[in-house]
Amino acid sequence: MLTKTKIYLSSPHMGGSEQKFVNEAFDTNWIAPLGPNVNGFEEDLKDYLGDKNHVAVLSSGTAAIHIALQLLGVSKGDEVLCQSFTFSASANPIVYQGAKPVFIDSETDTWNMSPELLEIAIKDRIEKYKKPKAIIAVHLYGMPYKSNEINAIAKKYEIPVIEDSAEALGSNYFGKKCGSLADLGIVSFNGNKIITTSGGGALITKSEQLKQKAVFLSTQARDDAPHYQHSSIGFNYRMSNVLAGIGRGQMEVIDDRVNARRRNYDFYKANLSKHHSIEFLEEPHGFFSNRWITCIKTESYEMREKIRLALQEDDIESRPLWKPMHAQPVFKDCLSFTNGISEDLFSKGLCLPSGSNLDQNDLERVLNIINNTLIS
Ligand SMILES: *Cc1c(COP(=O)(O)O)cnc(C)c1O
Repeated sequence: MLTKTKIYLSSPHMGGSEQKFVNEAFDTNWIAPLGPNVNGFEEDLKDYLGDKNHVAVLSSGTAAIHIALQLLGVSKGDEVLCQSFTFSASANPIVYQGAKPVFIDSETDTWNMSPELLEIAIKDRIEKYKKPKAIIAVHLYGMPYKSNEINAIAKKYEIPVIEDSAEALGSNYFGKKCGSLADLGIVSFNGNKIITTSGGGALITKSEQLKQKAVFLSTQARDDAPHYQHSSIGFNYRMSNVLAGIGRGQMEVIDDRVNARRRNYDFYKANLSKHHSIEFLEEPHGFFSNRWITCIKTESYEMREKIRLALQEDDIESRPLWKPMHAQPVFKDCLSFTNGISEDLFSKGLCLPSGSNLDQNDLERVLNIINNTLIS
């Protein structure tokens, strides 16, 4: 009997030269959170994102958000406006700082932060409490959020934006790379992301000085002295030179990875659009998504579950869309500005297998099961 292999939602996909860079780290004994791969990976990312950007590679995307909040001076009692429809790591660092997340719901055309609700929330908070310290907006599943609109509101009220581009390296917005669109940006190289270092992230700033401050904070905040001298609290958040070697190899194939993920989306869309009960998230004019994960929105919770369970039966991984933060038990006491859109997506939406390493047989296996489920 032919045994079928498991199909994952999004699995690591090495390009070939990662091991060369890792071996170099071993050969030169740079087995530390500094070294030529760290600098080289930062240069690669800077080249990719554009020269105006300065990049600090860190141990995770979550660490990058945490450092970004510190650079903006977010501290105890402050409020930070955060997209509700996201992974919890967008919001958790707000709590690490003793600050309070205020969640903002999504809009239908990008599934990301609604600019309209954002402005309503800002006005409300200024009137009732005090001005929020920062805005965290997310390019979810690789689809850019409405950066022009969000930046315009942020500018009007003078609130800095942190761009959570953890899922959107390789996406762009009117030709500008995601990760470089706001005051501070972050990306992630976790194992499931579009490129990976097994675990890792980066903070993107608009000045060398801010980058240096991020490096200082993420390497234990050592003052300039022969002994260990500290005048602020530091973190151990720098990326290892070994892992940065994987990142350098991955940067050589990032365009291929984006193309492969977009092909997955095109395949699913071309073959599933005949079902009127299934909707896809299209790119608005000027938006270019890396299609990190192809998502579908079904007609109902029941239909979504039927598809998910049928896929599971065949050892195929799929997953409901992110559960919005305002509906998470851990954030139940947080303020939120909602419109029902993210809850509707959570109840009816499904993430389909989307790895850049899926082959035609894998995609057809997924397709056949969905087709059979919808016909029966
Ligand atoms: C993965 C992810 C993060 C966190 O990145 P890590 O590198 O896993 O810490 C943050 N935000 C979003 C939207 C993510 O998907």
